[in-house]
Amino acid sequence: MAEAYKIIDHSYDVVVVGAGGSGLRATMGAAEKGLKTANITKVFPTRSHTVAAQGGIAASLGNMGPDHWTWHMYDTVKGSDWLGDQDAIEYLVREAPAAVYELEHYGVPFSRTNEGRIYQRPFGGMMQNMGEGPPAQRTCAAADRTGHAMLHALYQQSLKYDADFFIEYFALDLIMDADGACRGVIALCMEDGSIHRFRSHAVVLATGGYGKCYFSATSAHTCTGDGNAMVLRAGLPLQDMEFVQFHPTGIYGAGVLITEGARGEGGYLTNSEGERFMERYAPSAKDLASRDVVSRSMAMEIREGRGVGKNKDHIFLHLDHIDSKVLAERLPGITETGKIFAGVDLTRQPLPVVPTVHYNMGGIPTNYHGEVVTLKNGEPDTVVPGLFAVGEAACVSVHGANRLGSNSLIDLVVFGRAAGHRLGETLAGAKALPPLPKGSEEQALTRVDRFRNAKGGSPTAEIRLEMQRTMQADCAVFRTEKTLDEGKAKIGKVYDRLADIGITDRSMIWNTDLIETLELDNMLPQAMVTMHSAANRKESRGAHMHEDFPERNDAEWMKHTVAWFDNGGVKIDYRPVHDYTLTDDIEYIKPKARVY
Ligand SMILES: Cc1cc2nc3c(=O)[nH]c(=O)nc-3n(C[C@H](O)[C@H](O)[C@H](O)COP(=O)(O)OP(=O)(O)OC[C@H]3O[C@@H](n4cnc5c(N)ncnc54)[C@H](O)[C@@H]3O)c2cc1C
Repeated sequence: MAEAYKIIDHSYDVVVVGAGGSGLRATMGAAEKGLKTANITKVFPTRSHTVAAQGGIAASLGNMGPDHWTWHMYDTVKGSDWLGDQDAIEYLVREAPAAVYELEHYGVPFSRTNEGRIYQRPFGGMMQNMGEGPPAQRTCAAADRTGHAMLHALYQQSLKYDADFFIEYFALDLIMDADGACRGVIALCMEDGSIHRFRSHAVVLATGGYGKCYFSATSAHTCTGDGNAMVLRAGLPLQDMEFVQFHPTGIYGAGVLITEGARGEGGYLTNSEGERFMERYAPSAKDLASRDVVSRSMAMEIREGRGVGKNKDHIFLHLDHIDSKVLAERLPGITETGKIFAGVDLTRQPLPVVPTVHYNMGGIPTNYHGEVVTLKNGEPDTVVPGLFAVGEAACVSVHGANRLGSNSLIDLVVFGRAAGHRLGETLAGAKALPPLPKGSEEQALTRVDRFRNAKGGSPTAEIRLEMQRTMQADCAVFRTEKTLDEGKAKIGKVYDRLADIGITDRSMIWNTDLIETLELDNMLPQAMVTMHSAANRKESRGAHMHEDFPERNDAEWMKHTVAWFDNGGVKIDYRPVHDYTLTDDIEYIKPKARVY
């Protein structure tokens, strides 16, 4: 029986959970339409993971050479390995230029060309002429701090509108009614332990990715996919969770990203025998082969016992042969990062690196308005009333099986804005909020109470580490029938350990022990769904490289996985990929082999 917690009630038209790029843009969009809007965020808005994005944001402005939205569309479809929905992709790339100009007008200090236009750099997979090449310079950048600049500009702008921010509030669970509509959300104020019940016509989940399910991730510690987990607990599915993007060079342990530029300047990888093994896997491109190839080769070396370090579980990146002047001039940031996060002097020592989780293509299925959809009674695009999702938490799906670099930041603002428009349309003239379903707070409070008083023998950190190591070992870049089957059994055992969890802090004031436990309880179901979805997909597509089924199989597998989680079990079904575009301006781009 849950202890009697004091509940503070609030009423809004719209509640947005998350204040990263997508959540802030959705908050502004809703407030701009005159809707009474609240934003709930567990970290201060400008500390959201969007702040860490460096490279840039894609839009076919054509400032540095010829470009066209149809070319951006082609590249995104091909990048997705034909798992992206082409109506949504058309929407993304056509809205992208206006979204970037809007950011410019909001005050994002983009780098400039000599003529004063927004500077654009080339990025992987971004080409001219419907994939034919040469590379397109499409990625708009504010030096190597694009996400930082965007997030600050968006937060400043959103303060202009009449939205209420609930900062350092931890959203616990959605309030769903008996008809399956979302009616609000329950949150915990971390500072004083008070419980807040938000009633609203709509909830927008903008809670980001779940990279922290893995041992090594470039994402912030806060990227625990809380919104995804709330959706699973509401009895709704997540989509395409098997598609997890790895970057070859994250710093071992810390996970901090080391840019591809390090290898561009002549850096190379070695195994425990000191061998430059990339020469075996990619004889011509070697260490500069594409991200998935390099990551997979590193994973292979580690699996075969040639990893470095005490646990033989990482690889060395050498920059020590490069002139220290060159390092200081071209890679100053990395030199500093290496010192801080690995304690390594790059001019003398190799840097320990490991393929590192970087982005989650999967998430909460939505249409291109940001409305959450589910498969119900055989109808694949059934809208869940009152529930929206945007940003990395959502699976629209524009990135399909593999996201192109710089396509996430644009996804945040385009679909954040789209959700604002849709909320404006659908909630115009909305009636007063209906009464809440009975016991609307019960699920959330029982869960808080259970963990706060948990007295088992397994500390949160221990279970979390076991989950992260299992995901890193058995559901990484390199997957086989054997690793995935073992992985399913192992992650199931880790999940079962939740029953024996114990925490020590019973207070309600800044109880980080409790918050981390709630986050772990959010991550484990996502880890389960990811592992099961990966084991289920018997083909290779984009980021999902299955050694026993090395080819893409469009006949059987060109479909979205949707997976439900129910008390330790995973149920899987499918939604069709949208094989149509939004308008007649462009035809459906037919599948081809994906070679670069
Ligand atoms: C190191 C790094 C570099 C990157 N570089 C690029 C790049 O150059 N270009 C590009 O396109 N993409 C890049 N990406 C990807 C991109 O930055 C992310 O996908 C994107 O920023 C995610 O934004 P978001 O709005 O979905 O969520 P986030 O920015 O992750 O924010 C999530 C928000 O949700 C809130 N939240 C979460 N759970 C709760 C809860 N329970 N209660 C209340 N609030 C909650 C948090 O407080 C936060 O405000 C990079 C990613 C990383 C990790």
